[in-house]
Amino acid sequence: MFPEFSNHYAEWRKQSPWQLSLHDKDDAPSEDLLQAAWFHQRLLRDRLTTLDGRTVRVLHPGFWNREPGPDFRSAMIQLGTDAPVQGDIEIDLKNSDWKAHGHDSNPAFKNVVLHVVWQKGGTFVQPTLELEPVLDSPLADLRWWHGSDAARSYPAELLGHCCAPLRELSATQLSELLRQAALIRLQSKASQFQARARQVGWEQSLWEGMFRGLGYKRNLWPMLRLGELRSQVCPEQKRPSVLSLQARLLGVAGLLPDELSRQQASSDTYLRRLWDSWWREREVFADCTMPRSLWDFAGLRPANHPQRRLALMAHWLAEGRLSERLENWCTGSIEPARESSTLLTSLQIPKDEFWDRHWTLRSKDLDASQPLLGATRATDLAVNIILPWLWVRAVEGRNESLRCEIERRYFAWPSGEDNSVLKLARQRLFGGAAQKGLRTAAAQQGLLQVVRDFCGYSNAICSECRFPDLVKAWHR
Ligand code: SF4
Repeated sequence: MFPEFSNHYAEWRKQSPWQLSLHDKDDAPSEDLLQAAWFHQRLLRDRLTTLDGRTVRVLHPGFWNREPGPDFRSAMIQLGTDAPVQGDIEIDLKNSDWKAHGHDSNPAFKNVVLHVVWQKGGTFVQPTLELEPVLDSPLADLRWWHGSDAARSYPAELLGHCCAPLRELSATQLSELLRQAALIRLQSKASQFQARARQVGWEQSLWEGMFRGLGYKRNLWPMLRLGELRSQVCPEQKRPSVLSLQARLLGVAGLLPDELSRQQASSDTYLRRLWDSWWREREVFADCTMPRSLWDFAGLRPANHPQRRLALMAHWLAEGRLSERLENWCTGSIEPARESSTLLTSLQIPKDEFWDRHWTLRSKDLDASQPLLGATRATDLAVNIILPWLWVRAVEGRNESLRCEIERRYFAWPSGEDNSVLKLARQRLFGGAAQKGLRTAAAQQGLLQVVRDFCGYSNAICSECRFPDLVKAWHR
């Protein structure tokens, strides 16, 4: 630690919520501090051994996972004389947390290759590394470091091998690279629609895409299954009401609660109406009703709850004019600055008395109205579903001017919601600094395509990745 100079600000800093959060019970460091120490390898790296006496070589500490699951993904470590392995790292205060936190029975933790703990104690079932004796500095110093920008930045040694050649590109070159990758992504999504349309027709392929898009990102598969059941749930010749469709979709999805809350009159009234409808029909759908366990609610924001998504879908299905609305939007003449807002308008539904004021079937009444579809989700649907579907239809119809117009809209679309894949890609490929060239949804799509094509086929240490050389050669 540095010598103690008189510094009032240092004293104030000790009172900040961040400093207070760095202590756990019994003055142990917080898991967040331990995770930062692991990520930046603030360790005596040549003295690491597991509790059963094997040396640990950390070839890559892994990528910090801010979502449910192990703390670090895709680390590379070598234990003793074994070959290096890739897997996840979980960090806890003690060995016993492995069981106490339920990791032993959670499939998300099955790829953990090293359990890193602050202090040993009790039995261990995983290869386990105790951190306390191998930190490179006293804990007080590490707490001080943890508050600095150095601890928050992405470690330079973890940058991708492509980071340096990408930095050599001008803003124009980088935009062009991402633009070309984004076009590949548009075409590959479009070709999926084309293949599916050959089997089930264009209309059904769009519905399935919209269901899948609303399942983003944890519930793609159950939502797609519901999309495949569309003609059973919503027959064209006898289109059910919105309420009846909400009951069917929620019932088939296994998302209708069995019991009333008896606390929320508005929720109970609506739930009773859904059950009145579903009760009469559920035998008919018995062979396709899904178990609730198919759905993943971990870390889900209330606005993204599948119950809300299905409520929205019921409105679109009851009206039955979704493809017509989208085609009108696509062929209409719209000022470039209003393309995204007019699409959102085209997708809007009449006000839903219940869902306008509830996140889920069980949630309390909301103070303010919350539309079932917001601009963020509309952008996601636009770049992943709607524009690829319209684009491939224009290609099939040999309508060159329409194809060019859809591409123009795709490339001009404002950027969408950030996500963990994009964040990591920005850090690995651009050192976290460069937002240049990433201001459109297409640029984000281009970056995701690079991750898919190159990072997805390499590993944390960029083994045998051809992308850096390709960028260098293109730059010359
Ligand atoms: S795997 Fe390839 S594309 Fe991904 S960060 Fe490493 S060098 Fe870059």
